[in-house]
Order: sequence, then C-alpha cells, then structure tokens
Amino acid sequence: MKIRDILHSGKPTLSFEVFPPKTEDKFLSVSEVTRQIAALGPDFMSVTYGAGGGSRQFTVQLAHDIQAAYQVPVLAHITCVSSTREQVRDMLEHLKAQGIENVLALRGDKPQNEPEQETKEYHYAAELIRDIRSAGDFCIGAACYPEGHVESQNKAEDLKYLKEKVEAGVDFLTTQMFFDNQILYRFLYRIREIGITQPVCAGIMPVTNGKQMKRIGGLSGTELPQRFKAILDQYGTTPKAMKQAGIAYATDQIIDLLANGVRHIHVYTMNKPDIAAAILHNISEILKV
Ligand SMILES: Cc1cc2nc3c(=O)[nH]c(=O)nc-3n(C[C@H](O)[C@H](O)[C@H](O)COP(=O)(O)OP(=O)(O)OC[C@H]3O[C@@H](n4cnc5c(N)ncnc54)[C@H](O)[C@@H]3O)c2cc1C
Repeated sequence: MKIRDILHSGKPTLSFEVFPPKTEDKFLSVSEVTRQIAALGPDFMSVTYGAGGGSRQFTVQLAHDIQAAYQVPVLAHITCVSSTREQVRDMLEHLKAQGIENVLALRGDKPQNEPEQETKEYHYAAELIRDIRSAGDFCIGAACYPEGHVESQNKAEDLKYLKEKVEAGVDFLTTQMFFDNQILYRFLYRIREIGITQPVCAGIMPVTNGKQMKRIGGLSGTELPQRFKAILDQYGTTPKAMKQAGIAYATDQIIDLLANGVRHIHVYTMNKPDIAAAILHNISEILKV
C-alpha cells in the first residue's frame, strides 16, 4: 500500500522507524526486535539506510520481512551521496522485486573521513527524487528540517531548496526530530505559506538515556528547551528514571501535536519495542479521535 494513501485517509497516523544492523551476525536479533515493533500494528514503518554502504542489503531485507510477516506497509530509506546512478537504478529494481513501493529519498551525510566514497553523481536529494520518479510508480517521501539543515546558511535558503525538492516529485515529508513543538508549528506555517501542501510526518525521538542525547544534539543542531534540559540534568545518569521521563516527554509532545491539528507522528523508536509499546499505550485512545 502506498503511504501517501494512508496519509490522505483523514485519520491520524503513527509510524515507527527502525534501523538495520551493520553486520550480518546481528541481523537475526535486529530482525526480532523489528518484528516485535511491527506486531504493535503501526500505520507504517520505516527502515533507515547506511549512507556509506555496508548495511544497505539489510535495509531491503528487513523492509521485505516486516511487510511480508505483518502486512505493515514499509518505507525504505535510500541515500545517494555515495551512489552512482547505476547503483540507484539497481536498488530501485531490487526494491520493486521485493514488493516495496514506498521510499524515503535522501542525499545522506557527506562522508567526512572517506571523501572517496562521494561519487559526485548526485549532489542533492532532489536529483535522486527525479530519478526515482522516472523509475516507476513509487510513493516518495523526503526529509525536512524545522530548525534548518545544518549545512544551510539560513532557514530561508533551506526552505527555497525544500520547495525545489518537493516540486521534483515528493508525496510527503518527514521532519528531523525536534523537542520544542513551537518550532514545528512555525515551520509548518512557513512551508504552507510558500505553497508546500504535502502531508508532514512529525519526527519524535523519545530520549531514554543521557548519552544518546549528547550524540544527537551534536549531529543535528537541535535546540533543547529548558524543560527538557532539566529532565536530562536530573535523570540523565539514572537509566530507569530517564527512560520513564523520556517516554513521558515524547508522549506529552505527541499529545500536544495531535491536539493542535498535526495528523502524522513518526517515532524514532531506536529498535526498542518496549518504548514503542509504551508510547502507543499512552496515546491509544487519543489516536482514535
Ligand atoms: C526523516 C529523516 C530520515 C533520515 N534517514 C537517513 C538514513 O536512513 N540514512 C542516512 O544516511 N541519513 C538519513 N538522514 C539524514 C540525511 O541524510 C542528512 O540530514 C543529509 O545531510 C541531508 O539529506 P537530505 O535528503 O535532507 O538532503 P538535501 O535535501 O539534498 O539537502 C541537503 C542540504 O543541501 C541544501 N541544498 C539542497 N538543494 C540544493 C541546491 N540545489 N543548491 C545548494 N544547496 C542545496 C539543503 O538546503 C541542505 O542544506 C535522515 C534525515 C531525516 C530528517
């Protein structure tokens, strides 16, 4: 099933993201946790893609297994910065053969320490999106950044390129994580103002340990509200308390989003079925309204 049809059905949606293992010996354990997450019955699931290669084959395998075993529609991520056009064509054929019709088209992070991996055939996600469009009947998602992408000079420039990307053939957008809903509301206002009308899935990261946050903050330039910093300061080194507080914070964010008319929530579950289950439990009735 195409994710664009799910997003246009008029109902609120909840989707979960998982990531593949880096090495084959971990495949079975990752497959098991992704199955547990799929068994919760989200509206769809997404499977990330290693920009530098390595785990790519596992993305397709996991995506196929989830879809086949649980009939949960799957969104396979694909990046282009380290790929040739021929590799992208092959990957799309492979996805089609596995029955996967939804892709999240990304540029990927430029390989910092291995510049030779950058093929120079693709520079931006928009180029990949055009190639996917002409390769067949895929439903195409793309990334967006409520706080601006880290490489952008400013938000206005980022929005200009986002519009170009959407016009290349995007069916829906998924946001980078954010911890302050006001940032998302302002972003939605701005993109609607410049004529981007596609559905937006709000990306929510339940932060359940202090170390995870240090890594994420550095990577994405995400702003942390005072209320969130207080939780990290107080519970960041006490795993059980941090987990409880992180799930509560994410739940609170999601309820506020849904109450304010945001219809699609995408949870970065970090391959943790217990966290996905706790969030689903917390909002199960709310999702029915
Ligand atoms: C929801 C989500 C899922 C992700 N999943 C993965 C994953 O599975 N694997 C992975 O490796 N990474 C993933 N990423 C990270 C992503 O690959 C990086 O953030 C990457 O740096 C940008 O990818 P993009 O597709 O947004 O790039 P683009 O849309 O190409 O934008 C990249 C930068 O280039 C600028 N730009 C765009 N077009 C032009 C132009 N014509 N001229 C000049 N500048 C331009 C943009 O403003 C932006 O600053 C994900 C990110 C998100 C938000």
